[in-house]
Amino acid sequence: NKVIILNKRPHGKPALSDFEITNEEIPLAKDGAILLKTVYVSVDPYLRGRMNDAKPYVPPFELDKPIQSGIIAEVIESKQENFKKGDFVSGNLEWKEYQTSEGKGLHKVNQNEAKLSSYLGILGMTGLTAYLGLTEIGLPKKGETLIVSGAGGAVGTVAGQVGKLLGCKVVGITGSDEKVDLLTSKFNFDHAVNYKTTPNLKEAVKSACPKGVDIYFDNVGGEISDAVLANINKYARLPVCGAISLYNKTEVPIGPRLQPIILTKSVTIRGFIIGDLAEKFPAATKQLTAWLKADKLTFSETIVEGFDNIPQAFIALFEGKNKGKMIVKI
Ligand code: NDP
Repeated sequence: NKVIILNKRPHGKPALSDFEITNEEIPLAKDGAILLKTVYVSVDPYLRGRMNDAKPYVPPFELDKPIQSGIIAEVIESKQENFKKGDFVSGNLEWKEYQTSEGKGLHKVNQNEAKLSSYLGILGMTGLTAYLGLTEIGLPKKGETLIVSGAGGAVGTVAGQVGKLLGCKVVGITGSDEKVDLLTSKFNFDHAVNYKTTPNLKEAVKSACPKGVDIYFDNVGGEISDAVLANINKYARLPVCGAISLYNKTEVPIGPRLQPIILTKSVTIRGFIIGDLAEKFPAATKQLTAWLKADKLTFSETIVEGFDNIPQAFIALFEGKNKGKMIVKI
């Protein structure tokens, strides 16, 4: 039974040597417990924060202990009444091939309703983040211009599509020409910009958004966000969803002072942590499921195969190797 533990706290960008694969016996399910076999593992940028010895919004991972993330697992033995053998569950579980659980925090997922892996993406944490971040904080109105950074990823692809469904003009910022094409062909974005090859991002945003930016769904922070803010409209809303461009920085970078723009444009900036909006999950999931069934929403996944490759898949998030949701299939 393989287990992945945090070997060292990453300094800057995570490295494979920060992780170690160890072995333990497959545990026995005691009375009241279930034995789970891991099927799909979600790797997510926020896990980087939990690898530091600081308290972000969730406690840090402990050294030499298994890492946890969103996982889909199959119940292979059950000694409790809520789950039976053959059920699939979703929950925050450990990076282990097999583990036991008393079922706390686990939800059954139905593979006849949707692809199992989609419960880690569009019907899971990242889909909810995109939908609720945009609708609750971005407050989109028909005809407005929405710009999304990190647009080619799990959250970004959904945020942009939801913006289109709600009548916005949608522009994406992403890190490759392949993702630029994907955004405008598959995901219905009106326009997309490659921040890695555009010589002047501020000007590129200006020409993609001739009427200015009314909503900026920010997944990345840093210089990309500075370029967007230079084009912000009066009364714009700015849901701060993530800041991946800053997660691996070992020193706090200094940027332009943006207060005069925020002030004179009366911009509302609001960060959010998706877990704090949990009471809105059932209605949001219902809407996302309905759009998916009606083919109004689509999704991409980058699937990496093999338990041993979980750390590599996680690191690849910081290299932009994923299109849509990054998932490891065991
Ligand atoms: P993604 O699927 O978007 O994967 C990460 C992507 O970020 C990469 O593919 C890469 O794409 C981009 N990226 C990596 N490094 C940089 C960089 N230095 N500058 C700009 N872009 C970079 O991940 P998620 O959709 O899961 O998450 C997106 C963001 O949302 C993250 O910041 C995450 O922390 C945040 N988040 C926040 C939640 C909340 O509760 N607030 C919940 C879930 C996610 P590219 O090719 O474009 O560079």
